[in-house]
Amino acid sequence: MLTLTQGHLKLLEICPRRYQYSYLEPVPVPTDPAMAERQRWGTEFHLVMQQRELGLPIEAFLREDAALDAAVNGLLAAAPDLFAAEGFRQSEHRRTLPFNGYTLTAIYDLLVLGPVGQIVDWKTYQRPPQPAQLAKDWQTRLYLYLLVETSELAPQQVAMTYWFVAPPGAEAAAVLPSSISIAYTVAQHRRTEADLQRLTDRLTALMATEMATEMATETDFPKVDAAQGYCVHCPFAVRCQRSQERYGHDGEMVLPAIADIAEVPL
Ligand code: SF4
Repeated sequence: MLTLTQGHLKLLEICPRRYQYSYLEPVPVPTDPAMAERQRWGTEFHLVMQQRELGLPIEAFLREDAALDAAVNGLLAAAPDLFAAEGFRQSEHRRTLPFNGYTLTAIYDLLVLGPVGQIVDWKTYQRPPQPAQLAKDWQTRLYLYLLVETSELAPQQVAMTYWFVAPPGAEAAAVLPSSISIAYTVAQHRRTEADLQRLTDRLTALMATEMATEMATETDFPKVDAAQGYCVHCPFAVRCQRSQERYGHDGEMVLPAIADIAEVPL
């Protein structure tokens, strides 16, 4: 069964063609070195947090990287209750669920299960999005949905908290960690289930059409309407003949927002 993660759902929702180029027929795209370095640092931060949760020493990593030291210790100081919480705790906790012919999958940066369920996600960028935007994000929606569906907990007993830590070179005003917690309800759970049904039905229909069509030029998944603005941040703009949206009339590239850059999976 094909696996669907939050990243897959996000792209499917935004633009089926982008999902196709990203996951079904991966097309290599050039990497911005600064973005690659931000991803490397973010991955290292996640690994150190995982190692700490496992009770393994992390001091050597912190001694070598002042920004990492500040981020980890800043987080420990800002969220003492989270790190003292008892119950089942696991870093990089994976949950899967068969759904409408697919396997829904989530990997939580940290899961704490007691009378309530806390999903925690570390973000290594400076400017947190608006809470309403985070609540609508497929990461939040899928992660909460999966926890309810794979546990005894009711929607109102689970929540997801994002912690934002400053990467190297962060502005002084944003160096302290901050968090946003998203609560969950029965109504949201039902809405997410309906949207998952809609997206997976659509993907099944698109793949059936692709298999039934012989002409390669007719098998591509549909493109999003350019007027929606997603092509501006898309690395496949040239391939899609949407380069004007991404590079502008004068050829100057529009870089994606940090929040649009995928984390490197551990
Ligand atoms: S350039 Fe636009 S249409 Fe093409 S894959 Fe990207 S978002 Fe979709």
